[in-house]
Amino acid sequence: MAGSNLSAAAPFLSPVRTALALLILLPAPAPREEAPSIRSLKFLARHQRADGSWGAPPPDCRCRFRDVVRTPVDLTPLDEARGLFQAVQEDLSDDDPGIRERARKQLISLGASVIPLLQEAAGAAEPELRWRCRDILATLWRTDAVSRDLFEQGREKEPDLDLALNTTGLILICFMNCGYSQLSRDEYGDAPVDNTRAFKFGEVVKKGLKWLLQQQRDDGSFTAGSSQSNALATLALSEAYGMTAASSLKEPAGQAVAFLKASKPADAATAVWRGLALRSAALGDLIPEKELRPRVEQVADASLPLSPGARLLFSSLARRKAPELVERFLDSDADLLSPEEKLIATYAIDATWSSVTPERKAWDATAKAMLIDSQNDGPGCGRGSWLQGSTSFESRLRSTACSHLMLLQAYNYKYTLIDARR
Ligand SMILES: [Zn+2]
Repeated sequence: MAGSNLSAAAPFLSPVRTALALLILLPAPAPREEAPSIRSLKFLARHQRADGSWGAPPPDCRCRFRDVVRTPVDLTPLDEARGLFQAVQEDLSDDDPGIRERARKQLISLGASVIPLLQEAAGAAEPELRWRCRDILATLWRTDAVSRDLFEQGREKEPDLDLALNTTGLILICFMNCGYSQLSRDEYGDAPVDNTRAFKFGEVVKKGLKWLLQQQRDDGSFTAGSSQSNALATLALSEAYGMTAASSLKEPAGQAVAFLKASKPADAATAVWRGLALRSAALGDLIPEKELRPRVEQVADASLPLSPGARLLFSSLARRKAPELVERFLDSDADLLSPEEKLIATYAIDATWSSVTPERKAWDATAKAMLIDSQNDGPGCGRGSWLQGSTSFESRLRSTACSHLMLLQAYNYKYTLIDARR
């Protein structure tokens, strides 16, 4: 009996052994490919400032990203430079290339002293003049040592508080929406950018939250300025509390939410972030659920200057389907929309079509392909970022944060950030 049992078992065992033998013979599997969402989180971690915030590039940033127009340069132009600039400004857009080139050379010969004047003119209405000024500024950055030093100093200047709050709030949401909180222990090496460096995402979130808490004011708000910055900072804090129930966050998050609840949004984007923050607060038991829906509808009915994406989102939240808006949005030129507007539209799409509908599947596939295709996957400091329409380092950070959140939506990856459908 024992013998027949063995022989019956033999054919069953042998394929397993064969497979094991094959496994031994096969080369070791390649390291798991880096997910696009991890790649973008590493870019964001790489650009966190020492104080925990995000804004201007940190000193060790090697991104070759030059914002020649908006980098502040600490310099007052001399009268001589002003005089010459006024004299040749019109020649810059002359039809005669010889005249244009002469004006260009004269301005370059002035060196750094002409930078503020060029920067001002680069915001002019006339496209030709704008382009010429930008070109001269870029040439100065490349070729003139004094100009380059001034630009580098300006690049590391602290951004204003509203912008830093806005960007830091948004980036913390990027980490938390991927499931990383201040308690996470995951560690990711920074190869191929820097083989000796590794990021602990939990530490990144912890430092960012600490900086946010340092900015919080007695009334629970973070700034007397931008209401959008307030909404984003509150959302980040509420999510951190919702994910971890950390007792040290309960009171600050509660105060921030109370301030936000009492405030009125001034524009569509703020209304969206405020709505998300209050939803997050309800999910984290910071406010009762029943206080929520009337407020969302109130926002939807308010006569805010709504962008297509925001209008679509509010229509959906108020259970008023708006297929014509979806169509109008899809018809609009995506390049004309800011990364924020695209992200809001993505939340709107999520609220309109469940993930199993053909419309949603088509949208997700298009978004995924577009986002993965346009992400920087080179070995440099900008690895993991998205540029899309960026005109400054800060806007590159924001573009990356928004694209990252859009990617998570396209993968239907949800952690605790509010699900608009609920
Ligand atoms: Zn960099």
